[in-house]
Amino acid sequence: MEIIRIPRIVQDTCKQYTSKGRTIGFVPTMGALHEGHLSLIRRAKDENDITVVSIFVNPAQFGPSEDFEEYPRPMEEDIGTVRNEDVDLLFLPDTSSMYSGLYVTYITVETLSDKLCGAFRPGHFRGVSTVITKLFNIVSPTRAYFGQKDYQQAVIIKQLALDLNFDIDIIICPTIRERDGLALSSRNAFLTEEQRTAASVLYKALIKASDIIESGVSNAEQIREVMHTVLSEEGAITETDYVVVCDPDTLDDVSEIGRNALLAVAARIGDTRLIDNILIKL
Ligand code: AMP
Repeated sequence: MEIIRIPRIVQDTCKQYTSKGRTIGFVPTMGALHEGHLSLIRRAKDENDITVVSIFVNPAQFGPSEDFEEYPRPMEEDIGTVRNEDVDLLFLPDTSSMYSGLYVTYITVETLSDKLCGAFRPGHFRGVSTVITKLFNIVSPTRAYFGQKDYQQAVIIKQLALDLNFDIDIIICPTIRERDGLALSSRNAFLTEEQRTAASVLYKALIKASDIIESGVSNAEQIREVMHTVLSEEGAITETDYVVVCDPDTLDDVSEIGRNALLAVAARIGDTRLIDNILIKL
């Protein structure tokens, strides 16, 4: 496995791969790798000749009062993990090489970025869209892999790729969960044992909502109420950012579930902000 820190060298290396007709599968991450990340890496390996993984904790997507400094960075462990997966190229840029000199160019995917998490994390998706655009230009992948866990991010990147004519297949992979349903996340490491046990309440709320939808309830207000009730049951949630029933493409709230819907929640347990979602297909 090659480990490269300089964007220009990654760009040249990837160009050499594509000029030989090789397909590149790309998995962008912020590290602190877990089975969720590995599921994307394995899929990329299955579907492409070359697999490129990046690890970069992108300052542009963190707000001033967010956890950029505290974000876990187990670099040596991550390098070992990626090496074990037999990845071809690991891109480890530092901040100064990604945002060098007078850096003033940002990408905003409008409307989609203002909803759900965007309403609570101003500028977050602008930072995500900017770094992904840069990474796409550096790696020029054939396919790029994202997790459904960050559903809004995946929808925004699909739109970005379409709007900016990136010839890249954006592939959304299922959420990998702990046994009790908690979606794997690098931020789970911040939870105390007690908080970790309570954190499965997010998934329980989604499953309860999905159950009542299956039994015939289609009114979004009723569905949201059920989710709020489950979330408050254990008394572990410090604050709920949102509980939504929305259109999976536009992310607009719906009042009645028609064909498809996205159920999504964001809540804080202590200082840790967790998100989760499930897609309902009727
Ligand atoms: P992150 O390192 O948090 O930026 O995540 C990198 C990629 O891994 C993103 O596309 C995430 O959506 C994806 N990911 C994170 N957690 C999971 C999970 N539990 N299951 C599947 N994909 C995930």
